[in-house]
Amino acid sequence: MGKQEEFVLRALEERDVRFVRLWFTDVLGSLKSVSVAPAELEGAFEEGIGFDGSAIEGFARVHESDMLAKPDPTTFQILPWRGETPSTARMFCDIAMPDGTASYADPRHVLKRALGRAADAGFTFYTHPEIEFFLLKGKPEPGTRPVPVDDSGYFDHTSQGIGQDFRREVITMLESMGISVEFSHHEGAPGQQEIDLRYADALSTADNIMTFRVVVREVALSDGIYASFMPKPFTEYPGSGMHTHMSLFEGDQNAFYEPGAEYHLSKVGRSFIAGILEHTPEITAVTNQWVNSYKRLIFGGEAPSYVSWGHNNRSALVRVPMYKPNKGPSARIEHRAIDSACNPYLAYALLLSAGLKGIEEGYELPREAEDDVWALTEHERRALGIAPLPRNLDEAIRTMEGSELVAETLGEHVFDFFLRNKRTEWHDYRSQVTQFEIDRMLPLL
Ligand code: GLU
Ligand code: MG
Ligand code: MG
Repeated sequence: MGKQEEFVLRALEERDVRFVRLWFTDVLGSLKSVSVAPAELEGAFEEGIGFDGSAIEGFARVHESDMLAKPDPTTFQILPWRGETPSTARMFCDIAMPDGTASYADPRHVLKRALGRAADAGFTFYTHPEIEFFLLKGKPEPGTRPVPVDDSGYFDHTSQGIGQDFRREVITMLESMGISVEFSHHEGAPGQQEIDLRYADALSTADNIMTFRVVVREVALSDGIYASFMPKPFTEYPGSGMHTHMSLFEGDQNAFYEPGAEYHLSKVGRSFIAGILEHTPEITAVTNQWVNSYKRLIFGGEAPSYVSWGHNNRSALVRVPMYKPNKGPSARIEHRAIDSACNPYLAYALLLSAGLKGIEEGYELPREAEDDVWALTEHERRALGIAPLPRNLDEAIRTMEGSELVAETLGEHVFDFFLRNKRTEWHDYRSQVTQFEIDRMLPLL
């Protein structure tokens, strides 16, 4: 047994841990959890804990359903909302097949594979997400409208505001679990919050996002309110994005940084953006995976609807934030399409692969969009070579279907399952007669 595993076994005793939750994520991004007694852990580290993979969304077919969850000891943390004595801990797991090989269906493995390819090229991938979500006055009953907890707006400071105390409680819990938070504020819509995690390697970030969602839901529950990461719960307000800042490092050097270059952005950084721009339409079904995601992208206030990049341009899909001299030799880029309800492992694996492709193939970065791309006419956009993002899940799926990059990055099993699942979602959605149609058309027709 390795040092990390021994550390965990010791911590179990010292911290009086009575339950250990083993966490993993299904293909659509839902967290799964199995609780084990501390006595089981030695075996779990060595062989894994068996479970029925065919009961997990996207994992296995019935005739090959036995799977193993193997805890990653580096992710051991006490769950602060479960109390101290006795306490409850969690670890993220890697999923293995009965013969011990990594499961091709495990989203964590998909990301690790992509990170491995980056490592072969000498790069480490860092990400920092800005996570937006809504706080509602309780879980809406089916057929009723959700009600936000407040009517504040962007950066509002409201005395005794619910959001403020809520954010403080969430941040305190996250920090106690080793997850650093950089910024937090009220977002543009009533009840809408944003919390930005400090940058970390992409695997840690994806794990942290999964933990973040649990913490936010737990704190909301204990405050008698309801938190939602749905991309666009309100017709009249902006949706919830998960803008992600990205950079590549070579050793301890930021590979996107070049002093003296435009925006301090190196050739590697420029080709990475070019790769993202070229391949974003193919990967949008994953970064924006729900029928509702497209309500945000198309009608979402500051969400991008077109493929473009810019410096200080919030209508752009990729933004190069202002260079901050006090941050030293650093440069990063921000992807603004991805939303808060994606599977972060799969989405980050694809963003990385798209960027790496740009570097490998030496893609040239197209001209920066200086204008507000929403305000241009269709004709002007076409003349500037600014393509639209998929306008709905159907278009996104069709674009993904033909993508070699996505098939290679996700692997055949996840690729096929994902497309099948999303085609069904689109079919179910499209077949609905909506309240809009009844209200608008029944009185007329
Ligand atoms: N909520 C906006 C979105 O859906 C983003 C607002 C912002 O710029 O942070 O992407
Ligand atoms: Mg924001
Ligand atoms: Mg942002």
